[in-house]
Amino acid sequence: MAAPQPSKGPLAGRVIVVDPGHGGKDSGARAGTLYESDVVLAIGKQAAAALRAQGAKVVLSRTSAANLERTANGGNLQRMNLAARVALAERVKADLFLSIHANKYSNYPSAHGAQVFLGETPTPEQQRLAESLMAELGPLTDSTRMIDGRRPLYLMRHLKVTAALIEVGFLSNPRELALMTQPEYQRKLGDAVARAVVSYYKTAPVPQPEPKAAPKKVRPLPKPAKRRIALQVPLTRPYMSPSRA
Ligand SMILES: [Zn+2]
Repeated sequence: MAAPQPSKGPLAGRVIVVDPGHGGKDSGARAGTLYESDVVLAIGKQAAAALRAQGAKVVLSRTSAANLERTANGGNLQRMNLAARVALAERVKADLFLSIHANKYSNYPSAHGAQVFLGETPTPEQQRLAESLMAELGPLTDSTRMIDGRRPLYLMRHLKVTAALIEVGFLSNPRELALMTQPEYQRKLGDAVARAVVSYYKTAPVPQPEPKAAPKKVRPLPKPAKRRIALQVPLTRPYMSPSRA
């Protein structure tokens, strides 16, 4: 059997950082004896495998329960670990940065489903990435949650690369918590992330403003390929999965 050729596939040449959130002393959200840091590590590894299968060069920000910085020296451990992630993205010249997290909303245990966060000032490319992610993760997680582009997030503010913070589900929802600990569901989440990235790179770049030249008569271009419904959903509306729309 021939050796796998990781440089072939729709994501060949792309460097993607998959960042399982938290780690080490920062376990993130907690549900009983389960920690967000462990759940998202398993899901992040599945996403990395699925992206590699499409030809991407994937760098995981961490591959074990430990965090990036092991000594805090009395500093802000969480902030140091986020800064280390930003430095990693620059060091490996990442094309894309995907931070994977799990949500918790203890007062509302029925809350469920994936959601993408973009920081305060999302670029058009980030919005496109988020829409691609929700188009795949929304139906899989039965999510009607909208893309959130209003929160001050250290990672999103400091990363220079196109990035998204993905909350894959809610640890506070008993059903979703059980699913997120199952390898089969973790694999489905990872596959959905990879499909979203492939579709992100397939869609046309965001149109640039028209140059201010005098209008010329030009032959009409062929009709563009039909866009997916999900990509037309405005950011201000909840994302509706096709099964509910
Ligand atoms: Zn988190």
